[in-house]
Amino acid sequence: MTTAGTDMRFRFCPDCGAPLSERDLGDDKNIPWCGVCGKPWFPLFATCVITLVHNSRGEVLLLHQDYISTRYANLVSGYMQPGETAEIAAAREVEEETGIKIKSLRYAGTYWFGKKQMLMIGFIAEAGDDAHIAISSEVDSAGWYPAARAVAMVHPAGSVSHTLCDIYLGSITG
Ligand SMILES: [Zn+2]
Repeated sequence: MTTAGTDMRFRFCPDCGAPLSERDLGDDKNIPWCGVCGKPWFPLFATCVITLVHNSRGEVLLLHQDYISTRYANLVSGYMQPGETAEIAAAREVEEETGIKIKSLRYAGTYWFGKKQMLMIGFIAEAGDDAHIAISSEVDSAGWYPAARAVAMVHPAGSVSHTLCDIYLGSITG
């Protein structure tokens, strides 16, 4: 659990409120444990999907969302909902935020976003040819940008969005 911040650890049982002790569970050491309920409380964290959407012309869909950043453009991202697969969540977020139905989706790695203590599951998706943009209220504007330009518009190197742009750019430039 070295990548999880200690701030994410439960100190009280979410079910009964008792203070937790620690217990070794097999190979997992020092796991928060409720002696009243008799169960472990592994650290919880949010899981999000982040999707680079491109079209058949090699252009990338970028969102401008002032509530996230006025400086950098964003890929489509959002929290997963209970019961969803990551693939379904990715397609749902793309359609909700941009109105675009995707015609294919491929996995592009997982990323730990330490600042927000969340796991991000990356995808690269192709939009249908007739895709036209209908943004949600969470989005100020959106548009298609050539991949080489998009990589310079998202958050700098090391960010998840930059990494996904690099992966996509590599896949179309060989
Ligand atoms: Zn308990």
